[in-house]
Amino acid sequence: MTKNIPAIFGCMVFNDEVMRERLPKDVYKSLTKTIGTGRPIDASIADIVATAMKDWAIEKGATHYTHWFQPLTGVTAEKHDSFISPVGSCKIVMEFSGKELIKGESDASSFPTGGLRATFEARGYTAWDPASYAFVKDGTLYIPTAFCSYTGEALDTKTPLLRSMDAISTQGLRILRLFGDTSSKRLNNTVGAEQEYFIIDKEMYDKRKDLLYTGRTLFGAPAPKGQELEDHYFGPLKTRISAYMADLDEELWKLGINAKTKHNEAAPAQHELAPIYETTNMAVDHNLLIMEYMKKIAEKHGLVCLLHEKPYKGVNGSGKHDNWSISTDSGKNLLDPGKTPAENVKFLLILAAIVKAVDDYQDLLRISVAHAGNDHRLGTHEAPPAIVSIFVGEELEDIIKSIIDGKTYKGAKAGIMDLGVPTVPTFRKDTTDRNRTSPLAFTGNKFEFRMLGSSQNIAMPNIVLNTAVAESFRQFADILEGADDFDAAVSKLLKDTFSEHKRIIFDGNGYSKEWEEEAARRGLLNLKTSVDAYKCFNLEKNVKLFTEHGVMSEVEINSREEIYFENYAKIVNIEALTMIEMAHRDIIPAVNDYVADLADTAGAKLSVLPDVDCSVEKDLIKKLSALNAQAYTSVAALQDAERRAAGIADAVARAEAYCYEVIPAMEKLRDVVDTMEPLTASEYWPYPSYGDMMFKGI
Ligand code: ADP
Ligand code: MG
Repeated sequence: MTKNIPAIFGCMVFNDEVMRERLPKDVYKSLTKTIGTGRPIDASIADIVATAMKDWAIEKGATHYTHWFQPLTGVTAEKHDSFISPVGSCKIVMEFSGKELIKGESDASSFPTGGLRATFEARGYTAWDPASYAFVKDGTLYIPTAFCSYTGEALDTKTPLLRSMDAISTQGLRILRLFGDTSSKRLNNTVGAEQEYFIIDKEMYDKRKDLLYTGRTLFGAPAPKGQELEDHYFGPLKTRISAYMADLDEELWKLGINAKTKHNEAAPAQHELAPIYETTNMAVDHNLLIMEYMKKIAEKHGLVCLLHEKPYKGVNGSGKHDNWSISTDSGKNLLDPGKTPAENVKFLLILAAIVKAVDDYQDLLRISVAHAGNDHRLGTHEAPPAIVSIFVGEELEDIIKSIIDGKTYKGAKAGIMDLGVPTVPTFRKDTTDRNRTSPLAFTGNKFEFRMLGSSQNIAMPNIVLNTAVAESFRQFADILEGADDFDAAVSKLLKDTFSEHKRIIFDGNGYSKEWEEEAARRGLLNLKTSVDAYKCFNLEKNVKLFTEHGVMSEVEINSREEIYFENYAKIVNIEALTMIEMAHRDIIPAVNDYVADLADTAGAKLSVLPDVDCSVEKDLIKKLSALNAQAYTSVAALQDAERRAAGIADAVARAEAYCYEVIPAMEKLRDVVDTMEPLTASEYWPYPSYGDMMFKGI
């Protein structure tokens, strides 16, 4: 049966089309005006919008509504209320008021609030973000909301994101005005997030406590076959995966999510889904829904979707590519170099602003992707290194060089312009997209931030990008607005900025050892672990950035910092405890069983034939007994390290102990166990092997 995809697409979303159809004209107009400007909705129309929304939702099978929000746990939260409202003693009506649409109450005390919990009261409220469409799923009307404390502090990731979008719009408009744009009212910030993931058969998954508790394998010897043949990347989709992906696409389309491309990734059983880009707050909501549905639909197919950054040691990890750009409200992409010389100058200025932002706030960009899971990925295999740098492509780099040196740029056909700024040639995507090792690459008309982990909420990286670039814009506008000779001022600004920040531009192999050394010479940061990174979060310059642009207050920054350290410690703690349990209760006993059986076998053989060859049994008994003893002492060492770390009261010192002491102890234990696994008969080994997990059943 052919499916009518255009009819399915967005059918569960209260989108612009539905609003236009169902709302009185003036209400629709007022609401869309709100959406365009990022302001809250007018209370006088709330009741009408709420009723229209409820009636529509009921037609779609909804009985409940929920304010859907993004607390600082990194996942989403929801509390469902039904529409029912009693009339008299035995009747009900389905009701939903404007008040309920706009604002919900929520007990904030069980969500992480960092320092906020101590300082402020526990109650929080959720407020509709009208720029994100409501939608129906699982019989519930979902209203995307921001989540704040009663004193107004943001307890979520969405609020600072919306504020950062305002900041870049405000400051970016100042730049556009300087170039004679009087008509744009707002700048739109757009994101397309490519999502990588692994699939595993549910039966295999259920047998692995590490996957169950931590999302990644904590033990596991390499399989005989990994990704070395490179036969998986873009390879044909297997039947079961294909059926899963088709189902996933359809469910996402219903929610108005533009799932566009899907393909096999580099590692066995690894895949990718990319949606078409959209306004950043929608892209964030949608990425969260994509992750949720990836897991949910997998279950229906007897599969499990692993979103962890590093489910398997020794094979590629999963990341997320955050394709980021800015456009005017009429849809003109500001990262498009443009065709006329004037457009070129504007483009180069915006490019300079981004280069400066990335250099000035390397630490924040690194922090925005720092979490325990991503530490296993950054710097290993295909992932970008922990050093932040920017790749602009050969042509742009030459142009930048000529600006710095005050020389004519030879490559451009149109030559040099009056104000000493060369014109930018039209880009071919393949010339700019070649460097796959760069953490932040210009890819023709957007930047691709590639350091993000697959499991993370993409809000923070975009908050940092937006705010840092807003700050460059602010500084540029301050200089240029007061300039007597605009052209000369722009030329000087470009030259000064590129000269000052050229150290952040790098087009070589980001995975090489030489780059680490070169980056150190250039004075770039190399914050290897999350804990190293978090320590930079509330540096004065960073606090200044967020507070001056109204993105986060000092209290909000401090609370997030505390949560960073706390979360990190919690994650590693769970991993350590899981390892201890697996080793003590499953692995060590399994090896003992095998050794005992080997001994029995040898004994039995010898009783029949006293001079029989028992060298295999003897050798294995010897090796495995020694390794098992090592495993046992390694568990004890891990236990000690874990207890010590858990007992530290200070959040930073605790996270440090987990990072620098517990993790090395975990690695030591893993090494021993992974050495025993290939020596132990498979029927004794308590868990499916790497080969089983990556190749069996899928
Ligand atoms: P790849 O990185 O695999 O080469 P594509 O070039 O197809 O992938 O695009 C990657 C992502 O970039 C897609 O999600 C796409 O929608 C997004 N994208 C394209 N243009 C923009 C833009 N102006 N702003 C943000 N994202 C964009
Ligand atoms: Mg990409």
